[in-house]
Amino acid sequence: MNQSTTKHTKVLILGSGPAGYTAAVYAARAMLKPVLVHGIQPGGQMTITTDVENYPGYAEVIQGPWLMDQMKEQAKAVGTELIEDHIKSVDLSKNPFKAIGDNGKIYTADSLIISTGAQARWLNLKSEEEYKGFGVSACATCDGFFFKQKEVAVVGGGNSAVEEAIFLTKFASKVKLIHRRDKLRAEKLLQTKLMKNKKIEIIWDSVVEEVIGQKDPKNVTGIKIKNLKTNSLSDLKIDGLFIAIGHDPATSLFKGQLDMDKDGYIITKPDSTATKIPGVYAAGDVKDKIFRQAVTAAGMGCMSALEAEKFLSEKFS
Ligand code: NAP
Repeated sequence: MNQSTTKHTKVLILGSGPAGYTAAVYAARAMLKPVLVHGIQPGGQMTITTDVENYPGYAEVIQGPWLMDQMKEQAKAVGTELIEDHIKSVDLSKNPFKAIGDNGKIYTADSLIISTGAQARWLNLKSEEEYKGFGVSACATCDGFFFKQKEVAVVGGGNSAVEEAIFLTKFASKVKLIHRRDKLRAEKLLQTKLMKNKKIEIIWDSVVEEVIGQKDPKNVTGIKIKNLKTNSLSDLKIDGLFIAIGHDPATSLFKGQLDMDKDGYIITKPDSTATKIPGVYAAGDVKDKIFRQAVTAAGMGCMSALEAEKFLSEKFS
């Protein structure tokens, strides 16, 4: 392998959400010249969020994509090298750690910060798969616009589902929120907003059994839902279905190399982002299924860079 296809860095950061960019800012300001590798859609989950009211420092409502763009520019401004690549494998068995990109490029690193985040969960119905992109979506921000004056349904009972249902009322004439229980998981403030919105109807104790659609033109025309208390089935006419049932951590690259919990979240030491391998850190949603906020992810990104800096100064002193 020649030099041009291998890149060595003191701190390699994988992932470009709030955790990755914050780690980059701190590592760069510690003169560690970090390299941050991001995929084709940098910015992570915040880029599919609209209004952000809870990121500290902004009295006005800001937009998720804008915030991520600011974080990226800040990371660049202080000296982070940003590279677009898709890492297909990593080897953490020895230091320097090794990551290999899609195009064969090899990244070697004295320390590694994993901030690969989490991905949307789907219902895993065959019909859902068939109509993904044809009326079935996991991103109201991206696709809500296509449902002006149409009827849509959102599945889920957490903050995301409630936020998406409210957001969709900007476009849709009617939004049905389908939840498998009789109680929402979303925070009370959001629940109050939801209940006040006259365009939203909540369908309790129900799950989607099938997505119904037509072939020409291909689009969703309805769903079959089942009431879990009565087992009765009914058809709902809708034009779009938004799935907002949570996320899975993007940790498959590290399976067998790092300790993970039963849901695949990377396990770190208490009050730390350190994994079981010295020099390897995990920050943000990839290790956090409790808080999962941009600000907590950013905080963990900061911690990971400070811990990597300490590790490097001890290792190379
Ligand atoms: P979540 O809190 O895990 O909620 C997932 C929802 O989907 C739950 O109501 C769950 O039902 C339901 N669900 C899961 N699997 C299902 C399935 N197979 N079929 C039907 N329903 C299913 O996920 P989230 O709403 O994406 O939120 C994730 C985290 O991000 C949370 O910590 C949340 O607070 C945070 N968040 C914060 C904001 C904000 O602060 N503005 C916005 C969005 C998200 P059960 O309730 O029955 O388990």
